[in-house]
Amino acid sequence: MKKRYLLAPGPTPVPERSLLAMAQPMIHHRTPQFSEIFAEACELLKYVFQTDQDVLILASSGTGAMEGSVTNLFSPGDEVVVINGGKFGERWGQISEAYGLKVHWVNVEWGKAVDPAVVKELLDGNPNIKGVLSQASETSTTVQHPVKELAELTRDRECLLVVDGITAVGVSDVPMDKWGIDVLVSGSQKAFMLPSGLAFVALSEKAWRFNERSTCPRYYFDFRKERKNLAKKTTAYTPAVSLITGLRESLLMIKEEGLQNVFARHARLARASRSAMKALGLRLLAPESPSLAATGVYVPEGVDGAKFVKYMRDEMGVTMAGGQDKLKGRIFRIAHLGYIDTFDIITAVSAVEMALTKFGHAVTPGKGVAAAQEILLEGYVNP
Ligand SMILES: *Cc1c(COP(=O)(O)O)cnc(C)c1O
Repeated sequence: MKKRYLLAPGPTPVPERSLLAMAQPMIHHRTPQFSEIFAEACELLKYVFQTDQDVLILASSGTGAMEGSVTNLFSPGDEVVVINGGKFGERWGQISEAYGLKVHWVNVEWGKAVDPAVVKELLDGNPNIKGVLSQASETSTTVQHPVKELAELTRDRECLLVVDGITAVGVSDVPMDKWGIDVLVSGSQKAFMLPSGLAFVALSEKAWRFNERSTCPRYYFDFRKERKNLAKKTTAYTPAVSLITGLRESLLMIKEEGLQNVFARHARLARASRSAMKALGLRLLAPESPSLAATGVYVPEGVDGAKFVKYMRDEMGVTMAGGQDKLKGRIFRIAHLGYIDTFDIITAVSAVEMALTKFGHAVTPGKGVAAAQEILLEGYVNP
């Protein structure tokens, strides 16, 4: 017997409450019962997105809402800036190019956050630029980009800030309306503590104006059509009924914990993970601007990162993510978003220590765990 622990940055573990909600018998989607669940989920999503705008629910993985954001806002030939500091930034650019947009790539060293001054210079020099596309949290490099500063650049221009918040919404404070984010995207299998299959997207008034002029081809991901249906408490096509039922439950859990407490928990788990890895003498991938969703760590010299991650997964039952592309075999990522708490981090850190020992890189057992505990204790009241 092997007990399994899922500490990957998506899919993330699903709490019992949401699992049970999704196990209910199927109901038809054109019914008052479904409309009630759907409308409640939509209201709660506004709370988590920190917006007064509608949050659309699509049946797709997160990338569907990314593609929809490009096709619903822009037209072939439009110029956009893409912050490319990892796999997901690259994806914004690939989608944009697939629809004939002209991409100004801002290439950022992996592990670093974008410098807003570089974006400002581009925008000042090219008044035709219609959008800046970025991640809030670039999961592949465990970096947090300065979204608030980017929003200050786009706010007073005819230019949208389009943010992939797939590992940021419900993880760290990214207040859409307050900061002036025009498009905010997320997905179910990250902080929303659900299986994959739902994407979420909210648009500012300004973004809806762009939508009226946009001529990219689209059919399934038609935001205007979805918004019209949402007003009638339904969706354009058959929704993922069970996932939306689970979504309502997950969102209720977030509401009960309180959004600020959710952020504080993620911040604590992230800090504990970083502190533990440093105590073990390991080097962090993104020490300067770390994401609260996952901690990327270089494996020590002489350890094969791919084998290391595979060993923890297959031998120890602890699933973490490895590195992608140029980081393949060089890093592992401890995810700490969604239904994750103190003792998941203790498990993760302990697994890293034990696996390092097995790979011939001796560490003092418990040294990382002790460092993590020191921070995690802050999450508890005194007896
Ligand atoms: C997971 C993730 C995505 C979406 O990927 P899907 O597989 O389409 O759900 C996009 N951006 C970021 C930052 C992610 O972490």
